[in-house]
Amino acid sequence: MIYVPKYRRHLYLSPPAPTRIIRTIAQLTESTRKRPDIDEYMMSIAVGVRARANCKGSHVGAVLAREGHIVSTGYNGTPRGTVNCDEGGCERCSNRDEYPSGTGYDLCICVHAEQNALLSAARFGIAVEGSLLYSTWRPCFGCTKEMLQAGVQGVRYGVDWEPREELREEYARLQSYFPEGVKKIELRENQASDPEHKAQP
Ligand SMILES: [Zn+2]
Ligand SMILES: [Zn+2]
Repeated sequence: MIYVPKYRRHLYLSPPAPTRIIRTIAQLTESTRKRPDIDEYMMSIAVGVRARANCKGSHVGAVLAREGHIVSTGYNGTPRGTVNCDEGGCERCSNRDEYPSGTGYDLCICVHAEQNALLSAARFGIAVEGSLLYSTWRPCFGCTKEMLQAGVQGVRYGVDWEPREELREEYARLQSYFPEGVKKIELRENQASDPEHKAQP
C-alpha cells in the first residue's frame, strides 16, 4: 500500500470536483433518457426518409417493417429515371391550382411514399406479407388498397387528414380490413412540421 500523508488523503478518497460533476451528469442523462418504443423508433425513421421526397406537394416518408425490422422504405416523388417533381416533372403537381384536392390523379405521375416502399421491396425481392407500414401521413385510398393486397397487416401514421364527406364511409370500411388496424402515432413537435405541407397528396 502506498503511504499517503494525512494532509493529502482527501485527494485520494474523493475524485476531484470536475470528475464528480461529469459522472453525475452521465448518471442523470442515463436515468432520464427515454428509450423510444418500437412505434416511435419506426416513425422517427419515416420522418428521416421524408427528407428525400421530391414532390411539390406534401412530403411523405414511409417505412415497412416485419417483426420489428425495417424491410423497405419509400418517399414520394416521380418515378425513377424521370424528371423530379420539384423540377417540373409532374403536370398535376406543377399546376395544383387547376387540380383541386382529390382530382386529376390520372395525370399525376408522382409515386406515393407507401407505394414506393412496396415497390422497392418488389424490386429487390423482399416479402412484405405480415408487415406493418409506418407513414408520416395517413395513407390515401389508393395506397390503402395496395397495402391490403400486398398483405400489409396494419398501418401506423403521423399526420392526419379527413377524407371528403362522400368518401368517408368507404374509406373507413377499407381501413377496417387491416388485421392490426390503423393507428395514429403522436409525432414530436419537430417531426410533425413539414415545410412543404400544402394539401392532401
Ligand atoms: Zn409531385
Ligand atoms: Zn397514397
